Amino acid sequence: MKEPLAFAATCDLVSIVRGRSLPLSELLRSPYGVGWVPANLALTSFGPIAEPNSFSSLGDLRLIPDLSTEILLPPIANGISDGSPLHLFLCNQTLPDGSPWDCCTRTHAINAIKELKEKHNIEITAAFEHEFTLTGFANGAPFSLEKLRGAEPFGSDLWHNLEANGLEPENWLPEYGTGQFEITLRPKDALRAADNAILLREIVRDTARSHGMRASFVPLPRPDGIGNGVHVHISLSRDGKPITYDPKEPKNLSLIASKAVAGILKHAEALLAFTAPSQISALRLTPHRWSSGVIAIAEHNREALLRICPLVGNDEKNHIRAFNVEYRAADATANPWLIISLLIRSLTDGLDMNEAVGEILTGETEGLPGVRLLPTTLQDELVYLAKNEKVKSWFPPQLLATHIAIRESEARVLAGLTDAEKCERYANVY
Ligand code: GLU
Ligand code: MG
Repeated sequence: MKEPLAFAATCDLVSIVRGRSLPLSELLRSPYGVGWVPANLALTSFGPIAEPNSFSSLGDLRLIPDLSTEILLPPIANGISDGSPLHLFLCNQTLPDGSPWDCCTRTHAINAIKELKEKHNIEITAAFEHEFTLTGFANGAPFSLEKLRGAEPFGSDLWHNLEANGLEPENWLPEYGTGQFEITLRPKDALRAADNAILLREIVRDTARSHGMRASFVPLPRPDGIGNGVHVHISLSRDGKPITYDPKEPKNLSLIASKAVAGILKHAEALLAFTAPSQISALRLTPHRWSSGVIAIAEHNREALLRICPLVGNDEKNHIRAFNVEYRAADATANPWLIISLLIRSLTDGLDMNEAVGEILTGETEGLPGVRLLPTTLQDELVYLAKNEKVKSWFPPQLLATHIAIRESEARVLAGLTDAEKCERYANVY
């Protein structure tokens, strides 16, 4: 068998996995990974680099693989493969001397995790749920066995590829929307959960490709269609012990977790500029879509930005371990490392503020007086971000400016298109 290839990858501000390929043995031998270009951070979803951007033709970086993130993508059965799998590694972006690059999205997550640990001695466990639209198979009714079986052998193969790579799939289901499926992974520590979210998307796309199908994580396939959400379940631990559950507190949410998630609610509008950052992301986040219709924390309600998830059974030990809060307003145009870093920075800020969330909503949220609605456009999300000095302070100015330049460039590229056409443009990329 020929020497297998490795792919050293990063995930950028538009959540595209990009990188370079080289012989596996060379990557493993090199203490300084492979070369990379700073201006790549300014690439938009549609190809060209955002203009203006603060990166010039100057400068160099290194992609340094984290060997623990390795996954194997099986050879694609299209007749041109030599039979070796591709070894994919997620990398930290560093300066040429190996020191951290402050615009590296993964380093951002690592730093946020470290700060929460140092300041409050708290670790985060997270689980990502992904929805996506599959084409190239015989669709069936929502949630039906027919739909599940119609997508075979893709589904079984996907499950196997996730398991073989240690991603621990939990549920695989034929979702509500046309061609829509959902795959969930078991909870992991925050960095691993974000790494795995990035890897999962590539495994899904790759498995579909190998079956002559296509999987798209576009946030909304059509303006009147069903959205593809990314939901992030989070829970807190201290010294290895879960601390999110407390049956003496309202809706079982411990005081410390309540104070932490208050930070997410406080900064919600500005966070959306990162967790729902495409020109069509806000179209998904409207009432009656079970995505996220109101900026509130609610018990068991899929219309809330933060949902307190239900407990099953009556085993107290299991409740302590499993109790979690779900952030529902992310999509796959958002970088999972940034989603995690922003949620964690918000939790840290909530703990610094030291004030529990106000009301935890129960029942329907429709028409409730005083509840905040989500911004209806990315433009509005960016205005909230511009006014939120706290959230802005979490980023080096160059990263923040690049994020905004990308969004403005994409708005210009899509100007004049209908919402349906915009959805299609994103569906072709994601
Ligand atoms: N499709 C919904 C979304 O856009 C989620 C529905 C569900 O709760 O599974 O987020
Ligand atoms: Mg779902």
